[in-house]
Amino acid sequence: MTLNDRLRTIAVALAAALLFSAAALAGAPQQKTQAPGYYRWMLGAIEITALSDGTFPMETDKLLTNIKPQELDAALARSFLKNPVEASVNGFLINTGSKLVLVDTGAGTLFGPTVGRLLANLKASGYEAPQVDEIYITHMHGDHVGGLSADGKRVFPNAIVRAAQPEADFWLSKAHMDAAPQDRKDGYQGAMNMLNPYVSAGKFKPFTGDIELVPGVRAMAAPGHTPGHTLYVVDSEGQKLVLWGDLMHVAAAQFPDPGVTIRFDTDSSMAAAQRKKVFADAAEHGFWVAGAHLSFPGIGHLRTEGSGYAFVPVNYGAVH
Ligand SMILES: [Zn+2]
Repeated sequence: MTLNDRLRTIAVALAAALLFSAAALAGAPQQKTQAPGYYRWMLGAIEITALSDGTFPMETDKLLTNIKPQELDAALARSFLKNPVEASVNGFLINTGSKLVLVDTGAGTLFGPTVGRLLANLKASGYEAPQVDEIYITHMHGDHVGGLSADGKRVFPNAIVRAAQPEADFWLSKAHMDAAPQDRKDGYQGAMNMLNPYVSAGKFKPFTGDIELVPGVRAMAAPGHTPGHTLYVVDSEGQKLVLWGDLMHVAAAQFPDPGVTIRFDTDSSMAAAQRKKVFADAAEHGFWVAGAHLSFPGIGHLRTEGSGYAFVPVNYGAVH
């Protein structure tokens, strides 16, 4: 090898090294998308799948009531949060083995682009909308019923939709909508737009009282947040899960102090009383709980802590 050849070899090797390190510096492009939003777990013999509808920014300083601004700041800081708090919207799919039941449907297109993903996550989790047999609505706010219908058509063509009679009486009444203040009318219209396709198809069946809806799943009235707000209790092989719906909204503030309320409540003092009762029951008996606005997947346990409560999220694991 001549000196020139040797120099050329070194130059080529250097160039290759430089190119390689430049590529390494550039790195792989960041994906900037969240993982598919489902989480699956067994409650005894019943399969539960938490389905994420997405998240939305919640301005807790404008929405929470019965808490002083400096108390709220301190509560958020203790949870390493600040306003606006990114709030989860969760639905829950229950496969009892004979029935596929969906509890709440997310916001659909009612709440903007950061939510409305429940259907996509249902599919990602291995199910299709026509497989859903029953849909249980905790209450008829848009982030819970918005996924029921799209363009006036039922998204779940084979499902019977069920909700408490007082909830249906409140939200599906044109007289109530006409009497409501202007800024509240949209809520009634949204509920009607979502429910009416099921009503006209004979697929909406409101219920009265704390009844069993399918074996293993029963309703438990918890009015306050709305007049017919309902919890759903799932039982299997001695294990119990209580689906809370909107019993609470902001974990950082309402676990330490269940007396903190939110402007969306129809009756705030009744909502706070329900929250106190249900929190105390969950902490005393140690059963599973799940919340529509707890950080996804929103499943865990409650224990007492000081004068309030602390939430312990489910430990991630394989499905057996
Ligand atoms: Zn809600």
